[in-house]
Amino acid sequence: MSNTTKGFIASFIFLLFSIQLAPKLGALFLAIAPIVYLVYLFKKGVKFKSYSKNVKNIISVLLIGLTLSGIGGILTEFGVSSNKTKQIATSKSDNIEENKSKEDKNSVKNEKDKEKKVEKNVTAVNSNELGELKVHFINVGQADSILIEQNNHSMLIDTGNNADSNKIKSYLDNQGITSLDYIIGTHPHEDHIGGMDYIINCFKVGKIYLPKTTANTATFRDLASAIKNKGMQATAPIPGDSFKLGNATCTILAPNNSNYKNLNDWSIVLRINFGNNSFLFTGDAEAISEMEMVKKGLDLKADLLKVGHHGSNSSTCANFLEKVSPKYAVISVGKENSYGHPGNSTMNRLKNKGVKVYRTDENGTVIATSDGKYINFNCNPGTYSAGDNKLKVDKPQEPVAKPSNSTKSSSNNNVVSKPAPKVAPAPVQSQNNEQTVYVTRTGSKYHSGGCQYLRKSQIPMKKSDAISQGYSPCSKCRP
Ligand SMILES: [Zn+2]
Ligand SMILES: [Zn+2]
Repeated sequence: MSNTTKGFIASFIFLLFSIQLAPKLGALFLAIAPIVYLVYLFKKGVKFKSYSKNVKNIISVLLIGLTLSGIGGILTEFGVSSNKTKQIATSKSDNIEENKSKEDKNSVKNEKDKEKKVEKNVTAVNSNELGELKVHFINVGQADSILIEQNNHSMLIDTGNNADSNKIKSYLDNQGITSLDYIIGTHPHEDHIGGMDYIINCFKVGKIYLPKTTANTATFRDLASAIKNKGMQATAPIPGDSFKLGNATCTILAPNNSNYKNLNDWSIVLRINFGNNSFLFTGDAEAISEMEMVKKGLDLKADLLKVGHHGSNSSTCANFLEKVSPKYAVISVGKENSYGHPGNSTMNRLKNKGVKVYRTDENGTVIATSDGKYINFNCNPGTYSAGDNKLKVDKPQEPVAKPSNSTKSSSNNNVVSKPAPKVAPAPVQSQNNEQTVYVTRTGSKYHSGGCQYLRKSQIPMKKSDAISQGYSPCSKCRP
């Protein structure tokens, strides 16, 4: 074997090794070495010069071919490596998010592992593809039912009243949903868990979250037996716990207490992060729960707020709204409902902050779609008009605890486990001779101290403030 051939074979073997070990160096070597060697052969290769013209041509073509493939290698190697850097960057930020949720809690580990596998498959298909997060605020009148979809994963927050069961089922059917990864019953009022037994019977369900409280109603008992008959158990929400819905991260923010007088404050509050977008679902949580979240210093900032308790004045308090600071708000509320929802002061707070409000009484089903950057809606925003301005009759405004034998309770009845203790009227503070009046948590009227409508709650405020916030005088006590 000639020296030329030996050199050629040695170079080729070295080349194969270097491509395996260091692809970039290998490609560089492949691009440079053959052409250098060819120049060497023509100038100094004694034996090479003795070869026939044909042999010289064949060797030249081979070496030039190797150089060209080396140049090709350089192009692909460096192109691929820039993609690889992107992938590493993405997975790094994923890791940060994952670590965060790990810090938060660990009880949903199995779930997470499952999700991770699915996520990896999705990543394999397209590393930068988040997909869409679709949030359907299904129009169920004076009630809540929210379907959330992400890459074949789905979750249902609340299921309307008993009468909405079929409506919700066919809505899910129309979306092609056959199983729900999660069902969340924010709190055991009928307008939130009414259709839940039916939905649990009709669909495959992964996990059911319910707050650790009960209601002595047929609706609640129906739900409890549906869960039992399915061989499932409800999971109690632990604030700080988080779980994945496809590429979205859901974190439980409330309830943060276990001695609420009002079932509404038991509401599970859920935050969903998807790409750069965030959503806050508050059930019927009222100012008490809202302020607990504020005081805990939780990250409440969200692009979209599902307004608490159908827009009642007792929710969406100024401090909470300031922290959430949403661009968009959605109110699930019935047309001309008897509760006067949404409340005038809540609507004013939203209006003053320039929040775009979508509402099921005006828009029907509201669908918000996020690509992780922007949120689009299926309709234009609704008005800021309040329901309590339209209330003509002065009826008892405060939802009253029903006796324990109450069956299918009507929506918003505060069926409390313990009777709420009666609160003594707060001392009347008069400042600058301003008359102090009282409003209730959900009512639209202001009252003088001791009015019969103040049995359940009374919030003192200046008469002028009450008027400017849209409250009108009670026709019974004529304050
Ligand atoms: Zn409620
Ligand atoms: Zn409600």
